[in-house]
Amino acid sequence: MRAVRQHFRDVHEVARFLTMATGANHPVVNIEYPDWVDSVVDWNSTYSSDESRMRLAIDVSRANVERGTGGPFGAAIFEDTGKLVAVGMNSVVRYNNCLLHGETMAMMMAQRVVGSFTLNAPNLPAHEMFTSCEPCAMCLGASLWSGVRRIVCGAARDDASRLNFEEGPVFPESYKYLEDRGIKIEHNFLREEARGVLEMYRAKGGKIYNA
Ligand code: ZN
Repeated sequence: MRAVRQHFRDVHEVARFLTMATGANHPVVNIEYPDWVDSVVDWNSTYSSDESRMRLAIDVSRANVERGTGGPFGAAIFEDTGKLVAVGMNSVVRYNNCLLHGETMAMMMAQRVVGSFTLNAPNLPAHEMFTSCEPCAMCLGASLWSGVRRIVCGAARDDASRLNFEEGPVFPESYKYLEDRGIKIEHNFLREEARGVLEMYRAKGGKIYNA
């Protein structure tokens, strides 16, 4: 019990220190990519095929596991020409933040890049998101607000559920809701490659959060 109390005292101290370090007396959230991102992502390449776009999302998910920076999920957002806009990797444990899934991270970074709260603004080209695994309830909802016009998924919900990751209330009607609003959605694209990263994470004994 004493150890538990000490732990919470330590956590509180660290949180207080971080708050002080920003010069603010209220919470501040900063989100950055892990250090390895520039060695895995070729920002200047044109990703002309769906295969190359999905492979990038999968490469990001794999690097996240290999470097120990988060769960086995990655995403990437492109203009429809194949120009890369942003990637995202699961960062839940790294930041103690349940919102930081691969897809939400990619959406936040993409909107930062284009300077718009929607990727579907009149002055912007169409954007599409490739995700290494079918989105959870949160990410599917966020996809609607993000303004992406196409979503391509690698591994299936069942593949993640097998690792005991909770995907939340996603139903066939949920996908239909987005499709009815003009968003194209494709499933099981390079599914085996994407699933391989989930299996690698399981073999490494990776942490299952929000189970
Ligand atoms: Zn999610």
